[in-house]
Amino acid sequence: MTEAAEVREFWGRLGVPGLVDVHTHFMPERVLRKVWGYFDALGPLTGGVEWPITYREEEAERVARLREFGVRAFTAMLYPHKPGMAQWLNGWAVDFAGRTPGCLHTSTLFPEPGVEAYVRDAVEAGARVFKAHVQVGAYDPASELLDPAWGLLAEAGIPVVVHCGSGPAPGKHTGPEPIARVLARHPRLRLVIAHMGMPEYEDFLDLAERYKEVRLDTTMAFTDFSERFAPFPRRALPRLTDLGDRILLGSDFPNIPYPYVHQLHALEGLGLGQEWLRAVCHDNGARLFGL
Ligand SMILES: [Zn+2]
Repeated sequence: MTEAAEVREFWGRLGVPGLVDVHTHFMPERVLRKVWGYFDALGPLTGGVEWPITYREEEAERVARLREFGVRAFTAMLYPHKPGMAQWLNGWAVDFAGRTPGCLHTSTLFPEPGVEAYVRDAVEAGARVFKAHVQVGAYDPASELLDPAWGLLAEAGIPVVVHCGSGPAPGKHTGPEPIARVLARHPRLRLVIAHMGMPEYEDFLDLAERYKEVRLDTTMAFTDFSERFAPFPRRALPRLTDLGDRILLGSDFPNIPYPYVHQLHALEGLGLGQEWLRAVCHDNGARLFGL
């Protein structure tokens, strides 16, 4: 059986019309090459773990693959590592979403002068989701520079996928504390904690329980790869059931060191039941994005 057939068999069994994947990476080609080079060189942010990219293909092939998998909606997670880059990335993302059916128009931001204005422009241009990368950007998400932008996104109800956990390697401002300060000021901000907050899973589950608009994405969590260095605590499994309407499928496609279907099987392997899987792999995302 081909991988696409396996993926389709998975969601077909659940009785949903496909998958909604909130965490897939598409970005300008030369930026993506750099990211891949980083993984190849085992850069410090990979935690020194061997990280062979499974889907090192041309953009059109990667999009076609998601279509073959039956991913009916996906994102273009892109992020700057320095000032002066976000606006350019956002321009690229408008174009990409425009020419790529199924892609939810994604934008990003960075603590810098002018961020409020370009976030407003992106919202007015129809951005459906934002990405913030606290680890790669090495910024404090509670920076005053970002405050008006968070306010605007909270007001607009636009989800922000944020990599703020300390996995696979900690950053200067990763961990639950800085992002908790953001939520204290913007309690209605629709943050989607990437990677289930790996490895500080339980601290981020605390935040989700406290703030009703906080969600978590499954990206790389529970896979054999991640379980080796950041195992999800079994005692926290019942909390995943309680938060079952706020957990969203994320994969990190194409930058994953295993086949896409492994993420799906890892979720199934938690044994939380078909209803939970249906919600996570499709319904929660479909509701959040009004599909
Ligand atoms: Zn990612």
